[in-house]
Amino acid sequence: MMGKPEGLKLIDENGYRLDGRKKYELRKIKMEVGVLKSADGSAYVEWGKNKIMAAVYGPREIHPKHLQKPDRAILRVRYNMAPFSVEERKKPGPDRRSVEISKVIRGALEPAVILELFPRTSIDIFIEVLQADAGTRVAGITAASLALADAGIPMKDLVAACAAGKIDGEIALDLNKEEDNYGEADVPVAIMPIKNDITLLQMDGYLTKEEFLEAVKLAIKGAKAVYQKQREALREKYLKIVEEVGE
Ligand code: UDP
Repeated sequence: MMGKPEGLKLIDENGYRLDGRKKYELRKIKMEVGVLKSADGSAYVEWGKNKIMAAVYGPREIHPKHLQKPDRAILRVRYNMAPFSVEERKKPGPDRRSVEISKVIRGALEPAVILELFPRTSIDIFIEVLQADAGTRVAGITAASLALADAGIPMKDLVAACAAGKIDGEIALDLNKEEDNYGEADVPVAIMPIKNDITLLQMDGYLTKEEFLEAVKLAIKGAKAVYQKQREALREKYLKIVEEVGE
C-alpha cells in the first residue's frame, strides 16, 4: 500500500483492471499435488504470477525433545521468499515479514489438523515462494493445505484462502502486485468451508466498516472457488495413481 502515481487508473471506464480482469474475477490458478519425491506431502500452486511450493514432513519425532507435547503433535510453519522471487532481490533468510506470515499461516492451518492423533511429534510445513506477485500468504496457505492432505495427515477440512481489497475506491477480488501497491486496502481470508470457519482474517490499509464486510464476503467467495480447485487437484492426483495401476 503506497501512494498511487498521478493519473494511474487501476479500473478503466469499462470496468476492466490492468490485467484484464473484472472486479470480482480471480487470477488464473493452477494446482498440482505430490510434486516432490522426498517430502511426505507436497503441492505446487501457480496463482497469477505467484509460484509457490509447499512441502510437508511428518508426523515425525521432534528435536529438540523438550518441544514435544505429550498429548498432541505440534505444527511448525516456515514461509520463505526466494531471493529471486521479487523484483528487488530479497536478502535471504527470515525477516520480520516472513516471521509474521509464518505465524499467521500456522494459525490458519492448525484448526484443520487433528493434532491429538500424533503425540510427541511435529508436522513441519515449508512454504517456498519462488515468484511473488501479491497474495503469497493466501496462495501459501492453499498450497500447504494440499500438501498436508497429500501427506495423508488427518484433517477436519481443507483450508482454502483468498484476499479481496479496495482499488480506485471499489472493492475487488484477489489483488495483484500493482493493485496491492497502489490500492487502498487488502483483506486476506482463510476458511474451512465445511463448518464455515474463518481461520485467518487480516487487513492492510483503510476501509469503512461496510467496505470491510463487503471485502470479507468477497474474499470468502473467492476462497470457496479456490476450495473447489483444491478438491479437483487432489482428485487428479488419485486418478493418476489409478491409471498407473491400470497400466
Ligand atoms: N514483496 C516484495 N518484497 C518483499 C516483500 C513483499 O516485493 O520483501 C511483494 C511481493 O510481491 C508480495 C507483495 O509485495 O507478494 C505483497 O506483500 P504482502 O506483505 O502484502 O503479503 P502477500 O500479499 O504476498 O501475502
